[in-house]
Amino acid sequence: MGVDIISNKRIFPDFMEWGIINKENFIDKTSYDVPIKRWDPLSTVIIQTKGFGFRKERVRYYGHYAYLSPIRGKRPKGFKTEEEKNQFYDCSRKIKSKYKDVFTSVTEGKPIYDDWGKQIGDGFTIIITEDEKKRDNPFLETPHQIERIPDSCKAITLINRYPSMARIVDSDIEKEIKDNMPSHLKLSRGINLVTLSRHFYPALCFNLIPEDVLAGIFLSMKAAILYCVQEAIDKDYYDITVSPFFNIGTKVGGSQPRIHGQVYIDLNMDGHGSRLEGHLEAFKEMGDNCHLCQTTHGDSDRIILKTNFWTFYATGSPVRNYHIRAYPHEHIRRFTQLKINQINDFANAIKMVFQALDDTSIDKNRNILFNCCPYGYDADFHMFVDIIPHEIIGGAEMADDMRVARKLPHIAAAEVRKSLEKYLNK
Ligand SMILES: [Zn+2]
Repeated sequence: MGVDIISNKRIFPDFMEWGIINKENFIDKTSYDVPIKRWDPLSTVIIQTKGFGFRKERVRYYGHYAYLSPIRGKRPKGFKTEEEKNQFYDCSRKIKSKYKDVFTSVTEGKPIYDDWGKQIGDGFTIIITEDEKKRDNPFLETPHQIERIPDSCKAITLINRYPSMARIVDSDIEKEIKDNMPSHLKLSRGINLVTLSRHFYPALCFNLIPEDVLAGIFLSMKAAILYCVQEAIDKDYYDITVSPFFNIGTKVGGSQPRIHGQVYIDLNMDGHGSRLEGHLEAFKEMGDNCHLCQTTHGDSDRIILKTNFWTFYATGSPVRNYHIRAYPHEHIRRFTQLKINQINDFANAIKMVFQALDDTSIDKNRNILFNCCPYGYDADFHMFVDIIPHEIIGGAEMADDMRVARKLPHIAAAEVRKSLEKYLNK
């Protein structure tokens, strides 16, 4: 928490915590301290597609963009030492449910201290959903302490305290920022959510997290997205890109030891990235012949797992070795259209697939990305999931949307399939 040097008053929330910029916390800041969305002029073009049903009054882009957010660097670190981290991620030990982390103060509804008396968390939060139940409004301006979350709860979704976009901006301050900012930069608006299990489960022991807890995380995430998008639309936002994802492990951006999902809800209404443009155009070109609804994935030799509701397969054009894709058999456009059966089935399947990847000695640092059609887009899309294990990539791969993979996808699939066998027969 910051202190105003002149009045010696405690400033709360601090600048940009929970995405809040107000008169109190902006006092010693400039336009360069605010989160910025910057489109790369060397790769950005105006969207010409007429097919997405865009309103005419705004220009939309696609290309490469960056969110520049000074506050992201202030996030608390989950571990003090490398040794603590290594011990912790040894999943052969019993899951440490008594472990205290920064989120414990939220779930317990009070400040939490470590064994040396240092405060780990102050308990202040903005909670969007408790399981699927709506709590605080997504545009709430004041963080608060909440009652202890009941033990029966599976997962809660919070506003990220250290976001990369501004959620609430005082209107006078917004004008001041706009007047002082070069025209190619813009204050980045949006909502960043974080969904966590009510009880503590270490993210890197993903396969040991109970299935109902994992499903609970997806359900809480879904309810929170729907609540946020609805409230955003009521505030006249439209064409909203929503990206649900998991960063599992510190090497792929997961800064906290507890299992947690995140959602980026971009409210800038200025278009989407080149990768999403590629997917949107590809599905548009497919028309009624959706590739995911029809493909056999190279005569099935790349399929890893087929359940009642999902297919997991090794993608033929991997961005990393063992890059796996999953899609629901139902042709739905968004994560939030997943029904309870599909979510439960996915939780069960992904735990097995992660266990199989562990058994194949694949890096435990992994990303799970849910690719969805933005809200308000009149576009065809079949929602799909990327499961991408961590790997160091080379220079040529940074230069283009290209990867060099050693492992032939059908061989990767065979390996994972073989590891899966013993779990399927259980
Ligand atoms: Zn489809």
